[in-house]
Amino acid sequence: MSDIALETRFEEPHCVFNAKDFSSGAHPVWCPGCGDFGVMAGLERGLAKLGRPPHEVVLVSGIGCSSRLPGYMSTYGFHGVHGRALAVATGLKLTRPDLEVITVGGDGDGYSIGGNHFIHACRRNVDMLYVVMDNRVYGMTKGQPSPTTEADWDSDIAPGGIGLRPFNPLAVAIAAGANYVARGFSGDPNGLADLIVDGIRWPGFAFIEVLSPCVTFRPEQREWKKMVRPSSISAERDRAAATALVLGDDGYSLGVLYRGDRAPVTPALKPQISVADIEREFALSA
Ligand code: SF4
Ligand code: MG
Repeated sequence: MSDIALETRFEEPHCVFNAKDFSSGAHPVWCPGCGDFGVMAGLERGLAKLGRPPHEVVLVSGIGCSSRLPGYMSTYGFHGVHGRALAVATGLKLTRPDLEVITVGGDGDGYSIGGNHFIHACRRNVDMLYVVMDNRVYGMTKGQPSPTTEADWDSDIAPGGIGLRPFNPLAVAIAAGANYVARGFSGDPNGLADLIVDGIRWPGFAFIEVLSPCVTFRPEQREWKKMVRPSSISAERDRAAATALVLGDDGYSLGVLYRGDRAPVTPALKPQISVADIEREFALSA
């Protein structure tokens, strides 16, 4: 067991905000009924509870339907390159530890194109949050199977299914070293908001997998609301037990599934560098 102090941070919010303070007002282009609406509501409510102002929060994303999310919120945002969101977020958090850095995206972006960054973000354990909206499909590019797609999911693109065992992001996150692992559901934005606050407050890399239906290419996922349930077990600080739990689970247990106690990477605040400083540093001598 580590001797690091794992007390939560920001015991009392220093500001008072409403969820709507975190909305940019832009209308999402998501299909009506898409689960990503509920995830955004959970984020807005969670950040309001956290009590940090929008200008102290940065949302970083990659590519995909869910990665459009930063444009719909009033925080700072970076809608970047496919699968590279965690690399950008890690660099940002290391240089600006005063900011609340949250990475958002989908299963294709995070587990396939960005799979390498996912593993190493868990391993590095930088103190930030990663929220994945998992609908087990590439929605924006018209319904290809993703790493979490069931082996027998039949579609026009993959008739009869791809026949491959789905990726288990929760087991990978625990094994690779994430300090906080949870599962939420887009149909329960209040429960998701609580997980978001809890994950941000827990030191180290926090990963929340959110079941977020794609109603266009996976309409059967509307049934998830009947399948999800609170997890009956939470493995506090026991990696082996948590791994067994998520490997044996059917994928619909919600809640905090693991809290680790590895010392997080929390870089010290550095003096702010001005544009004039940068100009001086890069000035060509005559
Ligand atoms: Fe949501 Fe699927 Fe529509 Fe994309 S295609 S916006 S994931 S419902
Ligand atoms: Mg997806």
